[in-house]
Amino acid sequence: MFSPESVIRHQEGIRADVIMPIDVCAPGGSDRTGVAEAVELTTRWAERCREAQTRDDQMLFGIVQGGTFPDLREVSVELITALDFPGYALGGLSVGESKNDMYDTVGHTTTLLPAERPRYLMGVGSPEDLVECVARGIDMFDCVLPTRIARNGALFVRDGRVNVDTARFRSQQTPIEADCDCYTCETFSAGYVHHLFKANELLAYRLATVHNVRSCCVSWRRSGLLSASRVRGVSSGVPCPFRPAG
Ligand SMILES: [Zn+2]
Repeated sequence: MFSPESVIRHQEGIRADVIMPIDVCAPGGSDRTGVAEAVELTTRWAERCREAQTRDDQMLFGIVQGGTFPDLREVSVELITALDFPGYALGGLSVGESKNDMYDTVGHTTTLLPAERPRYLMGVGSPEDLVECVARGIDMFDCVLPTRIARNGALFVRDGRVNVDTARFRSQQTPIEADCDCYTCETFSAGYVHHLFKANELLAYRLATVHNVRSCCVSWRRSGLLSASRVRGVSSGVPCPFRPAG
């Protein structure tokens, strides 16, 4: 059983740079009452988490809830920013609402948050979501999507996604994406990755994951929108894995 105090204790134990309070993410489709309750409990737990913090070398972010109700987002921002966290997360999104509702909510909420503090969108997302939400003022993301779909053979390419385990890749001597600079594309053909999936070789999952994570970094940079975060005065030191320095 988790409590506000226990989640802080555990995160202090693993020495994460950024740690999160325990919060309530109202399920997708929740009515206004349910979302309002999530806002209230999230706020109370955020206070308890901050009081439980004993280390001063970790950034505890506050989490804004409120579903897709603009006024509840405003209430949540007011309550959470009053606690003065070093960064703020947007929770309760990507839980079944439409993309447009998510983008509208992100755009509305970020205008309410302090410009000098980093903003983190929890549980998002796809390459297109990264670009759309950076444009709306988000600095950080985390999401299982790129790695989860990679393990099913679904790979990001410039025009969308392809399934590398389908027959069209069986004899392809060129990489999954010709201009991709990830380890997988620089080292192996799409046909070889296809073969690994067909043979249920564990290396397939790793190579596909490397490509998708790199694709997310590239699409983010390709968007040219990272400078928006810099202009706002927030560090953009986003590490890009799977590509050696230099
Ligand atoms: Zn690649």
